[in-house]
Amino acid sequence: MIVTIDGPAGTGKSTVARQLADRLGFEFLNTGAMYRAVALACLRRGVDPAADAAADAVAAQLSIRFAHHRLLLNDEDVTEAIRQPEVSHAASQVAAIPAVRARLVELQRGAAEGIDLVTEGRDQGTVVFPEAECKFFLTASPEERALRRQRELAEQGQDIQLEEILQQQTERDDRDLNRTVAPLKPAIDAEILDTSHMPLAEVLDHLERRVRAVRP
Ligand code: C5P
Repeated sequence: MIVTIDGPAGTGKSTVARQLADRLGFEFLNTGAMYRAVALACLRRGVDPAADAAADAVAAQLSIRFAHHRLLLNDEDVTEAIRQPEVSHAASQVAAIPAVRARLVELQRGAAEGIDLVTEGRDQGTVVFPEAECKFFLTASPEERALRRQRELAEQGQDIQLEEILQQQTERDDRDLNRTVAPLKPAIDAEILDTSHMPLAEVLDHLERRVRAVRP
C-alpha cells in the first residue's frame, strides 16, 4: 500500500510522514532529500543547479540511497549537510529540471516496489504514485510555516530572521508552484488538511484513522 503526503515546505510533512510510517509499520520515503542531494552535489562541484544539462550530468553520476533514515550520497552521510538554506534554494532549482525529475521519479518508484510505503514530497500523489490508495495534501499559512522552519534552524544552532526565511520560502513556493513539470498541487483525490492550528499528534491521529479505514 502507498500513502502519499504532499505539500509546501514547513507544513510538518516530513515529521508527519515518518511518524505515520512508524505507527503503521510502513517504510518512509523523503523525496525532498533526494532533490537536496542532487543540489548539494552540484554546489560542491561548482555546477549551476539551474543549468539543465550540467545539473543532470551531475545527477547521472550519483548514488543516492537511504539507510536507517540517513541519506547517503555516494556512501557519504549528508543528512545534515542537505538541510542548509543554500541547499534548499538549489534543490528547488534542480527540481525544475525535467531530466533530473525523471531520474528521481524512477528511483522513487523502484524504492516502493513490493513494500508498504508512506512517501512525502510535492508530486507523490499527482505524478509518481497516481494509483496510491491514500493521498494527503498538507498546508499551513506562510507565516506559520516560516516560524516552524525558524524553530527547526534554531535547534540546529542557526539564528535566522523570520523575514529572511519568509522571503526564501516564498521564492521556493513560487518556483515549486509554477514550474512546468510536476508543479506543486494537490491530487484530485487527495484530502487537503490545513495544519496551521493542528498539533502534530492531532494530524497524525487523523491520517492514521484515514489509512486504517482503507487498510484495517
Ligand atoms: O521537501 P523539501 O523542502 O526537502 O524539498 C526540497 C525541494 O525539492 C522543494 O523545494 C522542491 O522544489 C523539491 N521537491 C520536489 N518534488 C518532491 C520533493 C521535493 O520538487 N517530490
